[in-house]
Amino acid sequence: MGEINSSKKTLCYIGLGSNVGNRYEHILQALELLQDTDGVKMLRVSALEETKPVGPPQPDYLNGVAAIETTLAPLDLLDRLQAIEKQLGREHIEKWGPRTIDLDILYYGDETITHPRLTVPHPEIAQREFVQRELKQAGYHG
Ligand code: ATP
Ligand code: MG
Ligand code: MG
Repeated sequence: MGEINSSKKTLCYIGLGSNVGNRYEHILQALELLQDTDGVKMLRVSALEETKPVGPPQPDYLNGVAAIETTLAPLDLLDRLQAIEKQLGREHIEKWGPRTIDLDILYYGDETITHPRLTVPHPEIAQREFVQRELKQAGYHG
């Protein structure tokens, strides 16, 4: 017997970014692994955009946003995203450093989450125009 709300579905938006190796391939693989996750249904994916990096000097990024519906709790979704990052060979978890794949939770329904491991909505949305564009393409309309 699960919790009363254990099958509650939440509409979430996931930011994807890659700036190491075959960026397009890394994003496609991450989307496939996400789609294959129990409790995750892929709804829509934005166009992919090339963007200048934030943080230390490094190659340009390819970025996109996916809309998913999930029954996973926020930290379980984060665990799954981090496992996919690891599986795709993300090496050092260095803030704003180059990476094969970065998977961020942009929105988790309309929830506000402040946890040592998880801040939602993602605090950089307002500063990243490309994220706002891609969110709209993935169906987010605030
Ligand atoms: P930015 O947040 O500016 O996009 P980043 O994605 O490069 O930075 P990471 O190195 O990928 O940052 O992650 C650092 C930590 O951020 C992770 O270990 C994770 O626990 C935490 N974190 C906090 N909020 C979120 C979120 N909304 N989505 C993903 N990770 C988050
Ligand atoms: Mg990020
Ligand atoms: Mg990240």
